[in-house]
Amino acid sequence: MSYDITKIRTNFPVLHQQVYGKPLIYFDSAASAQKPAQVLMAEEKLHNDYYGNIHRGAHFMADKATEHFENVRTQVRDFINAKYREEIIFTKGTTESINLVAFSFCERFLNEGDEIIVSEMEHHANIVPWQMAALRKKARVVKLPFNDSGVLEIEKLPQLITQKTKLISVAHVSNVLGTINQVNEIIRIAHQKNVPVLVDGAQAVPHLKVNVQEMDADFYVFSAHKMYGPNGVGVLYGKKEWLEKMPPYQGGGEMISEVSFEGTTFNELPYKFEAGTPHISGVIAFGAALSVLQETGFENIRKHEIELLNIATEGLNQIPGINIYGQSTEKSGVISFNIEGIHPYDLGMLLDKSGIAVRTGHLCADTVMQHFGIVGCVRISFGIYNTMEEVKVFLTTLNKLRLMF
Ligand code: PLP
Repeated sequence: MSYDITKIRTNFPVLHQQVYGKPLIYFDSAASAQKPAQVLMAEEKLHNDYYGNIHRGAHFMADKATEHFENVRTQVRDFINAKYREEIIFTKGTTESINLVAFSFCERFLNEGDEIIVSEMEHHANIVPWQMAALRKKARVVKLPFNDSGVLEIEKLPQLITQKTKLISVAHVSNVLGTINQVNEIIRIAHQKNVPVLVDGAQAVPHLKVNVQEMDADFYVFSAHKMYGPNGVGVLYGKKEWLEKMPPYQGGGEMISEVSFEGTTFNELPYKFEAGTPHISGVIAFGAALSVLQETGFENIRKHEIELLNIATEGLNQIPGINIYGQSTEKSGVISFNIEGIHPYDLGMLLDKSGIAVRTGHLCADTVMQHFGIVGCVRISFGIYNTMEEVKVFLTTLNKLRLMF
């Protein structure tokens, strides 16, 4: 199937507008992607046709909603090639998925003096929960560094893993550097020493075909809103053997088997980790987003994205005083940069006034900023709907703005 960008864009009505009198160019999909009509319609259809609270249904509407909700669990299983449906836990996002593991896994397996290895290029969501767990358990977070090209120094990993290492947590794709990390190799090294690995797939799943069994990840986490799905929905994939041993994260409805004042027994997987009414409409609409990604095809998505990435990188490299953070040969559609003498906030604001939505600031990755000795940068990131023409307009606009300073 060829990549029909016009057809793809037709499904994103939000893109067809002007901001500040200029056609919108949305280069902030790494923060959150826009939603196609299929996703909006799936949510609307639920509310118009068959809404009811799931699992506890004593009626037609609840049963139908439950069936659609649970079908999406199966869809997610197939999407990432997990072995069992029970290994798919719905959360409210990557952040909650990581917090769940940082609480439940660490409650059971982390002891005083133990260590968790986290890479230097992580989003705050993949650092702070481990620091909180370490504080609770008197354990330690250890850094796996990256080099100045933005590539993880995996060769240092075997020495960093000790008897005390209980878990390694690493991004599949960096939200700042765009680096696609060699997670298969990291997992291979970790498993040689019987250490489990959590992979933060938030920036990978919208761009790459993910196969958790082939990767052999112990945990894999991601957010629907970066995959053209709704916000407030996320996934925790965890190998059954780990999830079964972990205590629940939150207490409430759905996660119990029986409750009395003498005590509570917990429900089986996946419900043990899904306390309370979940984001029913969000999960159901997420199913539509997964279908859009599948129909578009990851080979096509990747090919298109590499074309955008190459043109943008080439164009940016012509600009005097440019610094691009992340020079890995294996990159996803993310470019972070600064232009000497121009504050990233000023540049972001002027790009916005030109109709171009970019992200500026520390990008929730202070440790990456610290590595390069900067306080912030500008980031452009691509989605399936971005075009070559948009990249060209961006480069021309950026050059004009630079001359203004
Ligand atoms: N991890 C990475 C790599 C991210 O890029 C993000 C969001 O930008 C997150 C985690 C947090 O995702 P969420 O805010 O959807 O929980």
